Amino acid sequence: MKRNCSVCGAELDIKVAKDRSYRGGHYFGEVKVPVEGAKEVELYETEIEGLGKVTVVEHDKYDKFEYWECDRCFHGEERLREK
Ligand SMILES: [Zn+2]
Repeated sequence: MKRNCSVCGAELDIKVAKDRSYRGGHYFGEVKVPVEGAKEVELYETEIEGLGKVTVVEHDKYDKFEYWECDRCFHGEERLREK
């Protein structure tokens, strides 16, 4: 299946095996983002561990997309973390 790297946009050719393992990219899960022009419908405060009080904004319309990274971006980030 074809996916695109969410960081640099490179095309990824993902091969999924029978045991559901895959190679060709790194999958981080589904990301929910408000669509362009979505209305803010609700604001509330909540406590997040490590962050303290944050204001959460709910929107009326969301888009879901899969977050993928190519090998280069994935390992590039790892290198940064080691510093
Ligand atoms: Zn990339």
